[in-house]
Formats: sequence, structure tokens, C-alpha cells
Amino acid sequence: MFDCYKREINYLRISITDRCNLRCLYCMPEEGIQQLNHDKILRYEEIVDVVKEAIPLGIDKIRITGGEPLVRKGVEHLIQMIAAIPGVNDFGLTTNGLLLEQYAEKLVESGLHRINISLDTIDPVKYKEVTRGGNIEQVLKGIEAAKRAGLEPIKINCVVNNSSLEKDALQVRSFCEEQHLQVRFIHRMDLENGCFTVVEGGSGGDCSGCNRLRLTAEGKIKPCLFNDLEFDIRTLGIREALLQAIHLKPEQGTVNTKNLFTNIGG
Ligand code: SF4
Repeated sequence: MFDCYKREINYLRISITDRCNLRCLYCMPEEGIQQLNHDKILRYEEIVDVVKEAIPLGIDKIRITGGEPLVRKGVEHLIQMIAAIPGVNDFGLTTNGLLLEQYAEKLVESGLHRINISLDTIDPVKYKEVTRGGNIEQVLKGIEAAKRAGLEPIKINCVVNNSSLEKDALQVRSFCEEQHLQVRFIHRMDLENGCFTVVEGGSGGDCSGCNRLRLTAEGKIKPCLFNDLEFDIRTLGIREALLQAIHLKPEQGTVNTKNLFTNIGG
């Protein structure tokens, strides 16, 4: 389906939880966040219903995000249910990789096509600092498991402060070349102040060609990451929420004063 600016909207990013097993400096406040009550978070069946309604509207690309999606119990069953829906042509998931070693095979068996893994540095000390306590060894084992399981492509999401020429970013780029992984550099974003740039090596942040909608963990369809507009599937109904989000999708991002990255999944 096309929006008012003749952009074809064919991509739905789905946040399935606001929980995470890391506390990255640029995403989560030190004290953590006020987590959503369980009854507020969409059930898997509700998420599947959204995808089923979205496909006939031209959405054939689905990405599962969080928080950290692999911390939600039974995620492989959700993957299986979505993969079984005719018309899902491109099916990915974004993870911090900590649990990937134990999930990679299950995700592939459940029908996932590809994966993006967050890795901002290959320095174990710096990694622990940026993630407030993460162990990089788990991520590296997760990457190996994803390769063995046959997830393809495997993309690395590397957050940079200002440039992909920063020391950590250059080291991540070399690591990806050695490991035959694709890398994308995401400049730090600020929702409230509307700070964002186009993703290097990706399409995110390019408003003129934006093809995406987002479903938040508590059931709001958002036409734009950098905007407060949202349409509640539980009050409007799924189809109406999707249609309004497409018709009212803004030409470009401004600011988002409503969401945190933890419940919208970037
Ligand atoms: S800011 Fe909004 S319109 Fe621009 S690329 Fe992001 S989601 Fe799309």
C-alpha cells in the first residue's frame, strides 16, 4: 500500500517486549525502566493477528525486536506462527546476541530467515562498559551458532557516537570482514530531540524512502519512529489502526516524546 507521499509501505517492525538482559548506556537509564504490566503486553496470538491483517495491505517484510526479543518465553513459537502465514517473504529478528547460542537452531527450525545482532565494540572491557555488564563472549558464541544454523544474511548493528571512523567502529568493520558478516552503522539517536541520521549500510532514517510501520509491545501501530502519532489496535481494531497509520504517516520524522527505545525496538 502507498502512503500520501507515494512511499510503498511493506515493512512492519514488531516489538514483542520492553524487557532486556542488558542496560546499554544509550538505550536504558541506569535505574532501568518502569516495565509494562504483563496484561498490557500483546499476546502472541494478537501479534499473529496483526501480521495476518497486514499482509493483504502489502506488508511482506516482518522484523521482531524488543527490548531483547529472546528474553520473552516461547519466542520460537511466535516465529513459527508468523513464518506459517502465507505472504511473509522476508522475516528477520534483531537481538543483542546474549541468548543466541541457545536459540539459533530453534529460530531457523521455526522459520526465521535472517538476523541482526548488536555489537558496538569487539573490546571485552568496552563492551562490558557500554552494556553495563554484558559478556561479549556470549555474543561471539551466538554469532558462531547463527552461522552454523544457516541464518543468512547475518548483519551486525554497530551504534556509533558520531562516525563509523571511530576506533571501535573500525574494529567492528574489520571483525565483520574477517567473519563474512554485513555491518551497519547506526548513529546514536535521540527520540525527544529528534536527532537521527540515515543508517550507514542500511535504509533506516531515510524518510524519503521510508517503507515501515512499527507495532509497539503494548499494541500501538506507529507510522514513524520520530513522531508521537500512534494507533491502538485494541481500541480501533487492527485493520483500522494499520490503515490510519499508513494514511497519516508523516513525510518525515520530527520528535517522539512518548516512547523509549526499549518498547519500540528502534
Ligand atoms: S523518522 Fe520516521 S519517516 Fe523517517 S525514516 Fe524514521 S520512521 Fe521513517
